[in-house]
Amino acid sequence: MYRSNTCGDLRTSHINKEVVLSGWVHKVRDKGFVIWIDLRDRYGITQLVLDQDRTSTELLEKVKELGRETVIQIKGLVIERASKNPNIPTGDIEVLVTELQILNESILPPFTIEDDTDGGEDIRMKYRYLDIRRNPVKNNLMFRHKVSMEVRKYLSDQGFIEVETPYLIKSTPEGARDFVVPSRMNEGQFYALPQSPQTFKQLLMVGGMDKYFQIVKCFRDEDLRADRQPEFTQIDCEMAFVEQEDILNAFEGLTKHLLKEVHGIDSQDFPRMTYDDAMRLYGNDKPDIRFGMEFGELNTVAQHKDFNVFNSAELVVGIAVPGGASYTRKEIDKLIDWVRRPQVGAKGMVYVKCNEDGTYKSSVDKFYNQKDLAKWAEVTKAKTGDLMCVLSGNTNETRAQLSALRMELAERLGLRKPDEFAPLWVVDFPLLELDEETGHYHAMHHPFTSPKPGQLELLETNPGEVKANAYDLVLNGNEIGGGSIRIHDKEIQATMFKHLGFTSEQAKAQFGFLMDAFQYGAPPHGGIAFGLDRLVAILGGQETIRDFIAFPKNNSGRDVMIDAPAIIDDEQLKELGLKLM
Ligand code: ASP
Repeated sequence: MYRSNTCGDLRTSHINKEVVLSGWVHKVRDKGFVIWIDLRDRYGITQLVLDQDRTSTELLEKVKELGRETVIQIKGLVIERASKNPNIPTGDIEVLVTELQILNESILPPFTIEDDTDGGEDIRMKYRYLDIRRNPVKNNLMFRHKVSMEVRKYLSDQGFIEVETPYLIKSTPEGARDFVVPSRMNEGQFYALPQSPQTFKQLLMVGGMDKYFQIVKCFRDEDLRADRQPEFTQIDCEMAFVEQEDILNAFEGLTKHLLKEVHGIDSQDFPRMTYDDAMRLYGNDKPDIRFGMEFGELNTVAQHKDFNVFNSAELVVGIAVPGGASYTRKEIDKLIDWVRRPQVGAKGMVYVKCNEDGTYKSSVDKFYNQKDLAKWAEVTKAKTGDLMCVLSGNTNETRAQLSALRMELAERLGLRKPDEFAPLWVVDFPLLELDEETGHYHAMHHPFTSPKPGQLELLETNPGEVKANAYDLVLNGNEIGGGSIRIHDKEIQATMFKHLGFTSEQAKAQFGFLMDAFQYGAPPHGGIAFGLDRLVAILGGQETIRDFIAFPKNNSGRDVMIDAPAIIDDEQLKELGLKLM
C-alpha cells in the first residue's frame, strides 16, 4: 500500500492515527534539531516533522539529503501542530515521521514548483509535466474536468446521446485549411482531419439520432493568432425537428446550468441582439456587454460642416469614455498613437472633452461650436466628465477600429471584470461574406447553413443581403458558441454550393455523400458547437486557453515538449508514397 491517505486529507480528527503518505518533497526546512518537510500531491500539502528527540539519527541524516521533487513514502503518526497554518486545509496537524522510503529521486527541476514560479512560459511548456504539478495549472485542469462533467451530465439528462465521429475523414470546410494525413493503403490519397464533425452530425440526424452531442477534438490549420490552437475541443451538438428557438433555448439552458454549477449564479434570460445591431452598437459581432460605451453614429450631426475628413467618410462614429475629460493632453496623444498603430489602423482620432462646467473642448473646435458638440454628446450618451473619442472612414474598418479602442479603454478602466458574466445571443448573421480580395462570396458560418425563410430569391439578386438562421453565443466579448439551422433539402444545398463557387461536379465529389443522404428523408435539423477551451477559460475568469489545456502548442503550432512536428525518415516517406520537394 503506497498510501492510506492523500496529502490533502488529514485533519484534527485523524490525530493519533498511524498513516502512510506518498508524494513529492515540496520543501525541506532544516532547523538543525527539527526538520519539516512539506509533502505534496494533487490533493494538497501535508507537513511532516522529524526531530532529535523522537527521530532516529539515521532517519534524520537521510532526510537532510532529500532534494526538491524527490518522491517519498512515509509512515508516521498524526499529531496536533503547535503553530497552526490557517491557510491550508491540513494546517492544524502534522505527521511525525517514523519510517521514510525514497521511491524515486529527482534531478533539480528547471523552475520552482510554486504558484509563483520563476519559470518563464517557454521553459514551463518544455517541462509541462512539471508545470502541471503547480497549483494554477493543476487547478485549471481540474476546473476543466468539472465543466466537462457538468456538460455531459446536463446534456445526457436532456436526452442527448454522445456519439463519436471519425478523425480520418474528408474535408469539412469551416473556413480554415485542413490538416491532412497520407494514406499508406491508398497511395497518393489523403484523409483530412475534421475542422469539426459538421457533416457527420448532420448524417446522424438523417440516421434518426435526434439529439447528439460530443466533446470532440477539431483541427484547423490556420495562422495562429494569439490564443488559438491548431487542435482544440468543441462541445458539438445537433438536434432534429427543431427551429432556431429550440436550439437557443436548449443551449441557453446548458450555459445557465454551467454558470449555476460553477459559480452559483442564477442567470436571467440571455439578451438577444441582431448581428446588424451588434455591429452598429459595438462594431463587433461578439460584443462585451459588461459595460456600456456603446457607439453613437454621428454622420447626421457631424457631416456637412467644413471638416472634410468627416464629410468624405462613410461613417463617423464615437464612444464616450467615462471620466475621460480629466485625461491630460499627453494621455490623449498617447491614445491617438494607440489607434494609429498598424494593428488598429485608424488614421487619427477626434476627441471632445465634456468639461465639468458643461462646456466642450474638442480637437475640432475650428469646425464645430458648442451646440454641435452637445448634439454629439447626446448621440454618444456622453456625460459631463467624459471624453468622446470619434473615428471616421470606411464603415467596416472604422467600426473595427473603434471596437478595439472601446475594449482597450474598458480594460484600462477595469470595466472588464473577470467575475462578472454577461452572455448574449447574436442572431441573424449574414449568410454570405464577401471576400474583398477575390471578390467572391463565401459562407459566413459554413456551406450547410440555411438562409432565412423566404430569402432564397435574394440569393440570386443581392447575395450579401441574405440573412441566415445562424447564431452565436457570446460571453464577455468572446464567441463561445456558434451554430445554425441547416439546409436539409438536396436542391437548396446544391444551389448553395453553386453560389459558393462550386461546380456541380466539385460539389458532388466533395459532398456527394451528404446530398445523397438528403434524398432519404433528412429531417429538419440544426445545431451549435461551443469552444470548450475558451468557455472553460472564461468561466475560470481567465482569457488564455493555453492555461486550460494540458499539453498546448505554442504560437508556431509546436509542441516544444515532445518536439513536434518533426521530420519522418525516408523509409516512412517511401511507404506513404511521398517525396519531399
Ligand atoms: N460546425 C460549426 C463550427 O465548428 C458549428 C455548428 O454549426 O454547429 O463552428
